[in-house]
Amino acid sequence: MICKTDPQEISPYLKDASNYIGGNADKVVIPESIEELSSFLKTNTQQITIAGAGTGLTASRIPETGCVISLERFDRVGNPENGIIDVGPAASLANLYKKLEATEYFYPPNPTETLASIGGTLSTNASGSRSYKFGVTRDYVLEADIMLVDGNSTTLKRGLTIDSPISFSDGQQLFFPEVTYNSPLCKNAAGYYVRPNMDWLDLLIGSDGTLGIFTRVRLKLEVRPTSFISGILFFSMEEECWDFIDLIKKTNNKFINPCSLEYFDRYSLNRLRKKFTNIPLVAQSALFFENDIYRQSDHDPALEGWFDYLKETSALSDSWMAQSNSDLKRFHEFRHAIPVLLNEENSRLKRTKIGTDMAVPSVHFKDMMFFYKNELESSGIEYVVFGHVGDNHLHINFLPEEQDVSKAHELYSRLVRQILDWNGTISAEHGIGKLKKKYFLMMVGEESVVQLKAIKEVFDPKFILGKGNIF
Ligand SMILES: Cc1cc2nc3c(=O)[nH]c(=O)nc-3n(C[C@H](O)[C@H](O)[C@H](O)COP(=O)(O)OP(=O)(O)OC[C@H]3O[C@@H](n4cnc5c(N)ncnc54)[C@H](O)[C@@H]3O)c2cc1C
Repeated sequence: MICKTDPQEISPYLKDASNYIGGNADKVVIPESIEELSSFLKTNTQQITIAGAGTGLTASRIPETGCVISLERFDRVGNPENGIIDVGPAASLANLYKKLEATEYFYPPNPTETLASIGGTLSTNASGSRSYKFGVTRDYVLEADIMLVDGNSTTLKRGLTIDSPISFSDGQQLFFPEVTYNSPLCKNAAGYYVRPNMDWLDLLIGSDGTLGIFTRVRLKLEVRPTSFISGILFFSMEEECWDFIDLIKKTNNKFINPCSLEYFDRYSLNRLRKKFTNIPLVAQSALFFENDIYRQSDHDPALEGWFDYLKETSALSDSWMAQSNSDLKRFHEFRHAIPVLLNEENSRLKRTKIGTDMAVPSVHFKDMMFFYKNELESSGIEYVVFGHVGDNHLHINFLPEEQDVSKAHELYSRLVRQILDWNGTISAEHGIGKLKKKYFLMMVGEESVVQLKAIKEVFDPKFILGKGNIF
């Protein structure tokens, strides 16, 4: 087992993409086998934080104190067989996608940042652009080996529900506590997932690194689409783009069945213009779409169907349609570039990210768009809006001057109150971590937090794992 105690070697583990400052740890432990991990935990008395790849946006992998455990040696990607693949928690999405390239299989969750580890994506229940049709990480996890912070382990499989206890390697059994809390029905990654009669596995997925450690994961794969029809559509007014999104979501046109719908506001486009100089000058907003196709013979009719459909809309005629796989790749780079540019800007200006991850039920889509625009424009604070508009799930990045940081937080709270009034969530994919606890409390209330703590206590009675996350 490798143990790093030199502050310079520890410092990369005190960061993630949120740019949160304030992490602290006195060592980083890198086990080389499950046995080493287990024996270390059996004698450990310190706080433990698990490090994934550090692409998280809520500081959940940044330790407050104690010890970081990095599972970076557990990065195996197995061979896919019968639509199933086993992976180590540190396997990156990029390596998983690469492994699947030469096969008939496809892993649908597409959380934009392919450096993310599978363990991290389970812990946050990551989703991303294709969740509009394909769902979230939770929908693709068949089983996982879990180690508790006391070093004991178990395998959680589908069908093992909270109505029965789970048994661990030392013979101990864990029972689900009596709670009345239920997770919201909309797309959600805020707090533990709790539903009647659910699988234990679903509780661990999305638990923000606080209940157990994923040491092996079995994923479900789908058959790869033969192609994608894809485009980036530009609009000369933001409201025209919103109308188009509304239209496309409701259409009965048999050719129009996208798996991704991703939005960019005018401030996103202004930033992207530096990298993508051919964005039409008059464009004030854009929509990236992908439509999955499963038979080669369906491709051309579907493409024609899209062209016909677009003729009737206000999308600008110099919008982009993918002609090849490399165009599709470039469109994904376009989508990925906006959070990257913002994160780089935050790092350069030493600014902790103030970014929202809220979603609302479909019925409030337009209300949300008008509300955001009115509030943001009148605030005078610089901002950018982009994201998973198919799921009514947008990321606002507030980019305040130093003196306006508290004003930005006040505005954020105001937006939260309205989103909650519409039965939305304050986190649809990033989790709570250390940065969204205040808003989580606003969302669920004290009584629910007490109930969620009761679940935490079953797994980690001393609150050693992922300290400072959620609670
Ligand atoms: C440019 C950019 C774009 C992004 N776009 C998206 C997006 O579209 N959709 C989306 O969902 N997210 C997105 N993210 C956020 C991020 O990629 C995800 O949250 C991702 O799931 C984090 O994975 P990670 O390996 O980096 O985890 P980390 O940040 O290292 O850790 C996240 C959490 O996982 C826990 N953890 C890690 N490994 C384990 C394990 N083995 N067992 C238990 N807990 C563990 C950590 O303790 C921590 O609580 C984006 C990030 C960036 C930088």
